[in-house]
Amino acid sequence: MMLRVENISVKYGKKIVLKNINITFEEGTLTGIVGPNGSGKSTFLKTLAALLEPYEGVVYVDLKNIHKMSRKELAKIMSVVLTERPDVELLKVKDLVALGRYPYTGLLGRLSKRDEEAVQEALRLVKADHLADRYFNELSDGEKQKVLIARALAQEPRILILDEPTTFLDIRHRMEIMAILRDIAKRKNIIIIASLHELDLASKFCDKIIIMKDGHIVAAGTPEEVLQEEVLSQVYSLDNVGVWSAGPLFEIKTFPDNRIFIVAGAGTGVKIYRTLARSGFGFCTGLLYEYDVDAVVAKTMNAGVLTIDEENVEHSINNALNLISRSIVVIDSGFPRTRTYRHNEKLIEYARELGREIIDVCKIPMKDIIKEIKKVLET
Ligand code: ADP
Repeated sequence: MMLRVENISVKYGKKIVLKNINITFEEGTLTGIVGPNGSGKSTFLKTLAALLEPYEGVVYVDLKNIHKMSRKELAKIMSVVLTERPDVELLKVKDLVALGRYPYTGLLGRLSKRDEEAVQEALRLVKADHLADRYFNELSDGEKQKVLIARALAQEPRILILDEPTTFLDIRHRMEIMAILRDIAKRKNIIIIASLHELDLASKFCDKIIIMKDGHIVAAGTPEEVLQEEVLSQVYSLDNVGVWSAGPLFEIKTFPDNRIFIVAGAGTGVKIYRTLARSGFGFCTGLLYEYDVDAVVAKTMNAGVLTIDEENVEHSINNALNLISRSIVVIDSGFPRTRTYRHNEKLIEYARELGREIIDVCKIPMKDIIKEIKKVLET
């Protein structure tokens, strides 16, 4: 089965909200739709689900125009989980999930053995079998979301559409829901399309990502293809945010400030960098191996970063010593005292010889660091 969107445009009243959208969804794939608020994600999903009709263009399932199919016909191939919560608070979970069988039973229809099995399987797929006899209104948000997905799956769709399935969930449940969706797409070989706000989740779990802005598709492809720094900066208008697409990692942008030198390494710098950036400080940091996460984060932040040139280590060290001699305060991040970081121990020794103020993060709580820095800079 294939879901093909051919040149659709959608408007609310006179306002055009989607313009000339073309895209194809294939079986066995999880697609994430991302983009700023108001970019048209919900409208697009509702059009795919035939809840809105385009004024131009066609949405095809294989060769059929979905807007020409009957509700019941469509319900047998497609199910939808929207952000609006259904008014089903007083139902038991298994009865709620059984509502997903309506295309097969009719609204008042009795459940056949086959229906019962479909309900059980749906609960199993979302790892919620143990909730079958609980009341929906007594569940946590994460559990509710799983149950609503189970109801959609009980419909045995070939296409599952979800609007922001991870919103309001904690990190564990967000990861869990995404893992479940990816798993179902593969195991059942169905098309799953979800709008998402978290780019990191999308990049980790989705086979394909569609980036929308102002009712257009800006980019579509694998996460690696589309989550490029320039694309994200432009789409989200991130003027004061650095982007590292491999994260994708967003950092507050700072600037190289010679007065503050952070001796770091092995990821011990990141917390300090972020603490400083949050308080509006720039900084320089070193001496870092180029692929140290500290180096990657500090570069993303646009801070001053001294990396080790393996071809000319002496030169790198001299640069660092030079910067330290110009600094006012030196911060020791508590980098590992191993051979790998021996250069950095040298830097700390040098700072001490120069009589620089050294803030040792292992001795001062992180929350007091800014206070310490201000104290030193002001004297
Ligand atoms: P997203 O899901 O990306 O936040 P939406 O699809 O909800 O974006 O909205 C896209 C645009 O359509 C926005 O400008 C929004 O204000 C407008 N819009 C959404 N729903 C309606 C509606 N029912 N009536 C009129 N305009 C709407």
